[in-house]
Amino acid sequence: MLSPPALSLISRSRICVSALFLLGSSLACAGEVAIGVFAYQGEKVANADWTPVIRYLNQAIPGQQFRLENHDAQSLRAAIAERRVDLVITNPGYYITMEAEFGLSRIATLESPDTPAAKTLGSVVFTRANRDDLRVIGDLAGKRVAAVDPDAFGGYLLAAREMLRQGIDPENDLKELRFVGLPMNRIIDAVRNGEVDAGIVRACLPEQLARQGELRLAEFRVLSHRQDEGLPCALSTPLYPNWPIAVTRHTDIALAKEVAHALLSMPAGSEGPTWTVPADYQPVHDLYRELRIGPYAYLRDITPEGLVRRFWPWLLATLLALLGWIVHTVRVEHLVHRRTSELRDSLAARERAEACMRDSQEQMEHLSRLSVLGELSSNLAHELNQPLTTIGTYARTVLRRQESGKLTPEAVSEACTEIASEAERAAGIVQRIRHFARKRSAVREPVDLAGLAGEARHLLVGMLANPPAIDIDNRLQSACQVLADGPQIQQVLLNLIKNAIDAGRSLPAERRSIHIMIEAADNRAQLTVTDHGVGLDAAQLARLFEPFFTTKPDGLGLGLPICKTIIEAHGGRLWAEPNPDGPGMRFSFSLPCHEPSA
Ligand code: ADP
Repeated sequence: MLSPPALSLISRSRICVSALFLLGSSLACAGEVAIGVFAYQGEKVANADWTPVIRYLNQAIPGQQFRLENHDAQSLRAAIAERRVDLVITNPGYYITMEAEFGLSRIATLESPDTPAAKTLGSVVFTRANRDDLRVIGDLAGKRVAAVDPDAFGGYLLAAREMLRQGIDPENDLKELRFVGLPMNRIIDAVRNGEVDAGIVRACLPEQLARQGELRLAEFRVLSHRQDEGLPCALSTPLYPNWPIAVTRHTDIALAKEVAHALLSMPAGSEGPTWTVPADYQPVHDLYRELRIGPYAYLRDITPEGLVRRFWPWLLATLLALLGWIVHTVRVEHLVHRRTSELRDSLAARERAEACMRDSQEQMEHLSRLSVLGELSSNLAHELNQPLTTIGTYARTVLRRQESGKLTPEAVSEACTEIASEAERAAGIVQRIRHFARKRSAVREPVDLAGLAGEARHLLVGMLANPPAIDIDNRLQSACQVLADGPQIQQVLLNLIKNAIDAGRSLPAERRSIHIMIEAADNRAQLTVTDHGVGLDAAQLARLFEPFFTTKPDGLGLGLPICKTIIEAHGGRLWAEPNPDGPGMRFSFSLPCHEPSA
């Protein structure tokens, strides 16, 4: 089933076709034309205002039947949406709103009886004449103000824009904003009775009421008073274009042209209001944009509060995500900080422990050296005794010769030379002992293993009464350079050689010989001390490197564990095995080779 608007369109187009056929295309289609008007003052006033226009159009365009439809704001909007009206007469504010929404298009603008100009709508904001505290609209902050209605063009919106311009937000900065509706006389009464401090009405209303004897202009003062463009009325705002008559998107163009032509040619002094060419409604757009209403209501959402209202779920989610991220970052930061400080503490503790270990190792080495010296002390005494005895013998010989008068200069010279030489020998022994026994810190430098072995042999042999034969066979290539702490390696050599000497001490001379071999093996330098001594059984061999393992009555059992620690601290290895070429043992250690520096 077709709706009534659709039926009316079909019937009108049928008539249209026949009219065009009979009269030609320059004529408008015959039919009923509905003119919807915004009857803001009620039907009675609207009928009185607009019936002359309808009557005039019916006379001027005989082929059409013009009909007046009174509407409030909402029903006029619905009538346009449902295409129930062909022409619309409304205030400038509703016009631009529906222009944006439904594509209304003005064809003429109403002329004011007071001025021929197109801009004729304004507002007047007034107070009682005795209110000396209120001079301009800006004085209204914190005051009570009466207006017609939030949508009233002249009865509120024009003044609201002026308030904004003078720094007052009408919605927030007034003590009270009271909308009293129509007729506007109510506002004048409210101001007169002191119910409100000021009122907003359409410009020229006070003058009109004064002419009718309903008020005296002297009773009131106009705020921000201005006179504009020849309008013979007091104003508080600039003037805006008057009401337009507009066609809808669906209005027949030929009809629109005819109506426009008829209205613009309406003779002055005719019964109804007169019309002029369509005005520029840009100031109305500006007003609505500033107040963020009508087609510009969306701008309210662009304020921070509006955006929050519209996008709060997204904002909340973003905020939560951000919060989560911050909490996560702070937590990670905190954990990293904690772990770093734990790591730093444990590193410091490790460094302390290492330093402590180094100290005790150095201490142990020192003690071990002293222990070797202790063990050799009887031999040492014997060693020192020899030069001292020789010195004593020479000294006594010189004395005896002197007493017997046989002392010749040659004899004195020979005795002194021998005494000096033996004293130097004794000093050499003491010097070596002191050097060996002194406390020192570990270093790493190129060492000559064969040289160290030779020195160890020299030191030991020098201290022993009956030293065994110790031969050194150096087969190490110069390509292998050992970086080590010389005295520590010498300590190891002393221990190994001394143990080898001890192992053959009670044996015949042929089993007391010791062989030292130095060679390269797998990019390492290897030193082997072989003896033909008493050797060790498997159980003893298994416990050889345990601290305090000893088979000697006066032994400490620390020499080999210390040697092992020293060699391993140099990145090397120390091991022992039975001598494969006969009785005795073979002790070996290897140290890494380094490229000799250029
Ligand atoms: P100490 O010499 O004070 O006993 P060491 O740690 O130097 O301490 O030696 C531990 C033990 O290893 C010695 O008591 C000895 O029994 C055994 N030992 C070391 N070297 C040899 C060797 N060349 N031949 C036989 N036994 C050895």
